[in-house]
Amino acid sequence: MKILTFNFPALMGVNSYLVYDGKTLSGAVVDAGRGFKEISAKSAELGIKIEKVLLTHAHFDHIMDAGKWRAAGAKVYLHSLDGMLMKSGGAPDGFFGAAPRFATEADVYVKDGDEIKIGNETLSVVHTPGHTPGSVCYLTEGALFTGDTLFADSYGRVDFPGGSASEMRDSLKKLFSLPGKDGIDVYPGHEGKTNLGYEAEHNPGNYRL
Ligand SMILES: [Zn+2]
Repeated sequence: MKILTFNFPALMGVNSYLVYDGKTLSGAVVDAGRGFKEISAKSAELGIKIEKVLLTHAHFDHIMDAGKWRAAGAKVYLHSLDGMLMKSGGAPDGFFGAAPRFATEADVYVKDGDEIKIGNETLSVVHTPGHTPGSVCYLTEGALFTGDTLFADSYGRVDFPGGSASEMRDSLKKLFSLPGKDGIDVYPGHEGKTNLGYEAEHNPGNYRL
């Protein structure tokens, strides 16, 4: 799987990732807070067709451009436990300020263990509640997209509605027990990359939760 990172400092350092099969040029976008314009341009340049948008969760800073991708013909994937959050625009109880204009829907609800094809490449769904009930990570060979569950030397907030410290602890344990973790790069929802083996040893989630 080829991976290109798009980082948006003005939106809390949120990331969108363009992932694609270099042979078939089938592509997907992981998280869609920003990046429709930039990723569309890059995809056109490389001849990639964006078929899917894989959301790690439905907070507004990860879904704001999802409606644009849907209008362009991509199918949006999300865990059903974040379905209502997405329909409300990703800002429950007005926590992030009014965001109903970002409200849209998923086309496909995923669950733990599902496999998603991108050309001849495969991503599998790892359900990791804690930041939100429907938070998921997407695992492919050598890469894990962790949304707001796992960050470099940090982990996602658990104090938003639907968050849970005990679920976050269990979800991090689940990630840290994935086989071959030293060979897995972590692509988080915000800021820079890290390595899963490193985080399994050093992440503060190991002792703060
Ligand atoms: Zn979030």
